[in-house]
Amino acid sequence: MSYVVHYCKNKKCNNAWLDKDLTHVKTFPPTWKYCEDCCKELGLDFNKQKPGDDVSEEEKMRREKLKH
Ligand SMILES: [Zn+2]
Repeated sequence: MSYVVHYCKNKKCNNAWLDKDLTHVKTFPPTWKYCEDCCKELGLDFNKQKPGDDVSEEEKMRREKLKH
């Protein structure tokens, strides 16, 4: 399991932290997760966030194509 710097999904929050690289990101730091502070504020479970929760249909189709 590799690790990568994540940026908080909350655009107003500038938190960044080292976390598991679940999406095998190559260039941009992933921004699909809220930091622990924002999770607390939003009532989310930090550890239950999954990549793809906020992925648009367009992005899903693009990823689907890459698999083939
Ligand atoms: Zn945050």
